[in-house]
Amino acid sequence: MKIGEYECFALDLGEMWVDGGVLFGMVPKKQWQEQASADTDNQVRIKARALLIVGNGRKILVDAGFGTTLSAETKAEYGIVDPIPDLNLMLSGYDIEATQITDVVLSHLHFDHAGGSVMDTPTGPVPFFPNAVYHVQSEQWEDAMTPHERERESFEAVDYSALQSYGVLNLLEGSLMLTDGIEIMVSYGHTRAQQHVLVHDEHQPLFFCSDLVPTTAHIPVSWHSAYDNKPMELYPEKDFFLRKAVRNNWIMFFPHDPEIVAATLKAGSEWTELDQPVSF
Ligand SMILES: [Zn+2]
Repeated sequence: MKIGEYECFALDLGEMWVDGGVLFGMVPKKQWQEQASADTDNQVRIKARALLIVGNGRKILVDAGFGTTLSAETKAEYGIVDPIPDLNLMLSGYDIEATQITDVVLSHLHFDHAGGSVMDTPTGPVPFFPNAVYHVQSEQWEDAMTPHERERESFEAVDYSALQSYGVLNLLEGSLMLTDGIEIMVSYGHTRAQQHVLVHDEHQPLFFCSDLVPTTAHIPVSWHSAYDNKPMELYPEKDFFLRKAVRNNWIMFFPHDPEIVAATLKAGSEWTELDQPVSF
């Protein structure tokens, strides 16, 4: 779909089954099961979705999915559905090759968002997109390189060192304009310096929620996952972004919703609510 000066596409990069209790944190199952159906093991199916932004001479990928480097054991452990869709094949659907990607914005370095940024070769990992600049928040990079015990598994499933050794890493400091009409905004509740991409448009800007609002079921501020590291920081910043979304008619892009890729929001009686799904 056309947003501002850019064509935007949703890439379906796979599925995983996660524990419903973890996915909804403090929300009792009695409530969340009305929004998400769980199997007999209490597992809920979610997507891993990336955003492709093409225009102004740039081909920008926002997040890269699980990728190809995870072991069979890791995939089984995390409920990742095998086979994982082939990123090259997905891009070829838009007549794009991996070598043509100019920028990769990694919202954060949890393996379900950034695993596809590198690939294994006999001599070690290399950048999957050899000609791209990879934009990562420096605080996020720091945490991934020296992870806290709580976050260790989410980062260490993938070896990102190649991004630095191949000189393709561009460390960012906070919110900024990436290029004309494309803004980076930062949040801290899910993980330190998670970045969101806002594609500007006069009428309907597009906002890549990443794990700030992973699915439509997570639109209420207090409905957040147990993976969020700093819930007390998450509340005000999520509220800030949701209000901004309603005020400015943002289309919210949900990376993990099993069905709804994107939607607009509206003010509800208590919280912000889902308004209209937007088809991509
Ligand atoms: Zn995450």
